[in-house]
Amino acid sequence: MEKWPKYYNKELETMRQEELKSLQEKKLKKQLKYVWKNSPFYQRKFKASGFSPGDFNSLEDLKKLPFTTKDELRESQAQHPPLGDHVAAPMEKIIRIHSSSGTTGQPSFVGITRHDHQVWTELTARSIYTQGVRRDDIVLHAVGLTFFVGGLPVKDAIETIGATFVPIGTGASDRVVSTTQLLRANVIHCTPSYAIYLGDYIRSKLKMDPSSLGIKKIICGAEPGGGIPSIRKKIQEDFGCLLTEGLGNSDAAPIIFGECPNQKGMHFCAQEFILCELIDPDTGEFLEMKHEATGELVYTHIDREASPLIRFRTRDRITVWTSPCECGRSSFRVRCVGRTDDMLIVLGVNVFPSAVRDVVTILRPKTTGEIQILLDKPGPKVEPPMKIQVEYAKDVSDLQRLKGELENLLKEKLVFKAEVDLVPEGTLPRFEMKAKLIRKLYEESK
Ligand SMILES: [Zn+2]
Repeated sequence: MEKWPKYYNKELETMRQEELKSLQEKKLKKQLKYVWKNSPFYQRKFKASGFSPGDFNSLEDLKKLPFTTKDELRESQAQHPPLGDHVAAPMEKIIRIHSSSGTTGQPSFVGITRHDHQVWTELTARSIYTQGVRRDDIVLHAVGLTFFVGGLPVKDAIETIGATFVPIGTGASDRVVSTTQLLRANVIHCTPSYAIYLGDYIRSKLKMDPSSLGIKKIICGAEPGGGIPSIRKKIQEDFGCLLTEGLGNSDAAPIIFGECPNQKGMHFCAQEFILCELIDPDTGEFLEMKHEATGELVYTHIDREASPLIRFRTRDRITVWTSPCECGRSSFRVRCVGRTDDMLIVLGVNVFPSAVRDVVTILRPKTTGEIQILLDKPGPKVEPPMKIQVEYAKDVSDLQRLKGELENLLKEKLVFKAEVDLVPEGTLPRFEMKAKLIRKLYEESK
């Protein structure tokens, strides 16, 4: 018998779907009225599409509303600084500003009010609790605390659960190891890229077995990888731990989905705060959220004051499962296969860089699992063969054979022709946050 309650919020997490639907409908009605009244950005968008909140009667009517894109939010912020005119609360109500981890141009800011902060803490705590964190756990937080929504909001959530939060940050692997030993920490929160890096670092630099540290749970997020079978297997075997993953969105909320220890996909954990839709990423057409459906995830806030989003296109490609989970949670589950922005297309076949890494990781220990996809010109279309650098392990002597094995395996699993360039262990960059698996060999136009 487990010492702690099974659920963080039993009522919401086990609620019957019809009951939840009517709760969501009620909250969406209220939210649309609020947004209509307070957000000039949405007033414009609603008017342009001929929609008024009075037209909203059931969840199905959501389809009548236009999508919101990341580019529109950037434009809104550029035209109406500091936070954009989609923001629906005055600065005097905003208590914190986060920023999404954009790689180009201006940071994109997200404000939260005191109410939004409570909502974020509740849904993030619910996701982390679902991932298996309990009050007696000591959690090393090996990601940054600044700006990133996976920082301070995760601290708030872990402390609210009652577990112990230790802010280690990034770039401090020796400190992760010594602190784990000194405090007897048993949980690490990090990106899957970092968990892989840390295992290798402990083994090769510190000459220790990572499983001797006593880490029992690793909770991962910020990039796909934790749910990719070969990567999950490697991390779990390295540390002798259970790995569960979470999924959030810097514009929507910190951790919206959390995987339970049954490891059958991430449960939706923002029941009364966010609505999810699935769409065809190419046509924008609505897709039914049924078992094993695949598409782009779209979020609508139904309880948000400062930076509300209606039908926000996340660019996350997900697969959905609706079959019952042994944990008893009634929510659907997802796995994120990658981001539309990172997707490459080889002869009409979609290829996510994380899937390439997954295939290469299968051939460990002959490879280290590290890869870089080299692009001669801008994607997403790539002329075969796709050029991929792969690190081979020190003791491999027959490189020609390994190259053949990798190329065959990539062809078999991902249906495209690759040209593998084997490079020695330690050549490719390591990442403590999100891994960058694509290297552009061309000059980017400004
Ligand atoms: Zn479950």
